[in-house]
Amino acid sequence: MTVGFTLHATDGPARRGTLTTAHGTVETPAFMPVGTAATVKALPPAMVAETGAEILLGNTYHLMLRPGAERIARLGGLHAFMRWDRPILTDSGGFQVMSLAGRRTISEEGVLFQSHLDGSRHHLTPRTAVHIQHLLDSDVTMVLDECTPFPVDREVAAASMARSMRWAGRCRDAFVDRPGYGLFGIVQGSVFEDLRARSAAALLEIGFDGYAIGGLAVGEGQGTTFAMTDVTTPLLPANRPRYLMGVGKPDDLVGAVARGIDLFDCVLPTRSGRTGQAWTRFGPLSLSNARHAEDPRPLDPACRCPACRGGFSRAYLNHLVRAKEILAAILLTAHNLTYYQDLMAGLRAAIATGTLRAFQAAFAADFGGSTDNGSAPGGEHAARRADAAGTSFPR
Ligand SMILES: [Zn+2]
Repeated sequence: MTVGFTLHATDGPARRGTLTTAHGTVETPAFMPVGTAATVKALPPAMVAETGAEILLGNTYHLMLRPGAERIARLGGLHAFMRWDRPILTDSGGFQVMSLAGRRTISEEGVLFQSHLDGSRHHLTPRTAVHIQHLLDSDVTMVLDECTPFPVDREVAAASMARSMRWAGRCRDAFVDRPGYGLFGIVQGSVFEDLRARSAAALLEIGFDGYAIGGLAVGEGQGTTFAMTDVTTPLLPANRPRYLMGVGKPDDLVGAVARGIDLFDCVLPTRSGRTGQAWTRFGPLSLSNARHAEDPRPLDPACRCPACRGGFSRAYLNHLVRAKEILAAILLTAHNLTYYQDLMAGLRAAIATGTLRAFQAAFAADFGGSTDNGSAPGGEHAARRADAAGTSFPR
């Protein structure tokens, strides 16, 4: 129990805090860029830091298969290997293994799966999942759990949740306590309130450094994600960090912060950056769209990112995207992560000053309906809302 968490202020259920780890502090609420294969795709670590990110997420599953946790350990751990000296949280590998339908078998002991790279067989158990994250030298280790799909039968969700809670206990037993390193439990139970409550109680009984809400953002829709968050957060200890896994779009982050969530991760800003989509205060922009072809404006004149500050026009970005130039991914990823980090900084400042409701109203007015970006009313925003229903962002 050695990852510190200090609460500085609250505004309704929302919390402003600091997470303290072996590799430094993280001001919360915080968004963690996803560094799947020991890299935040398209950006060197110094540029990731410039966006304002203070903590990254690493993927145990991908790293255990390639280049291997033992090799990373021999090379000094994940921080030294990827040249990121700030905090790192690693997932347990369970999420990716679960999404490998047809390639894995789940038992009480753990998950037996075949590598998607070379077909080799691996056994991920609570003990090995924790050990691999220890080898990676992750500041925050996540327990092995089963992320149920949506929709799922109640009986299936109940049995899966109960097994994940037994795994959580074994992960706690296997975790080596060290100063600045912590282990987070994961609340499961799909969209069933009583299962979520039983899961939270089971985790509290074991005792963790932080508590994640898993199994959401898998297609249930924002309303259900928020409803399950509302049900779960009051059951979690106020003095420990709360992490909503795999979330999300900017409006998901604002809504979840208002519900008391401290940590987030999602591939959306980085993946969008590689597919020609920019996230801005005024909603998403598809840079491949021909209407940007002669637009001299930056993505957002108020943005401090290398793309906007550097004077790169929407027209130029449109050209780069259409020509499939690498610079498109670099500039759009830098912009998207900067936007996400500045959004989180705005939320932190609002909570600290007790003005979160005003911040939410201003955010919604800009993000939801403005046509300042040149799109026709109802154009990209309507498309986004259409996309949002049932959208998930597998890591
Ligand atoms: Zn920008």
